[in-house]
Amino acid sequence: MTNDLLLNEIWVRLFVGLVLGLILGSFTTMLSYRVPRRLSIIHPPSHCTHCHTPLRPRDLIPVFSWLIEGGKCSHCGALISVRYLIIELITTAGCTAAFLFIGFRPAVIAALIGVVALITLVTINIERNQQN
Ligand SMILES: [Zn+2]
Repeated sequence: MTNDLLLNEIWVRLFVGLVLGLILGSFTTMLSYRVPRRLSIIHPPSHCTHCHTPLRPRDLIPVFSWLIEGGKCSHCGALISVRYLIIELITTAGCTAAFLFIGFRPAVIAALIGVVALITLVTINIERNQQN
């Protein structure tokens, strides 16, 4: 493999890892909030936990929506915990690392599931320890 092909492969892995990581990061925040509260992970769609207004598409862009809105609900102005931003960033980093090290092989699917499961469980555990 020439150096140019190798470099292109790394950029593609980086891009796919970042995009998929952001999407899975948003999914991980939802899991870590809803699973310990025994809420459905399908319905209702994502909404503000203060005013219950459904989130608009522009409110659902992982990491960027939190940064653009300054960590506040765009409808009621309630503060949105920084935990969402942190979870999305850590998940993105984990997924990007998985794609960089494993590439486009079936094993990357197991790694992505592992990243999401691990971050979800750690987040739930930290939240439970803070309540006790
Ligand atoms: Zn709100």
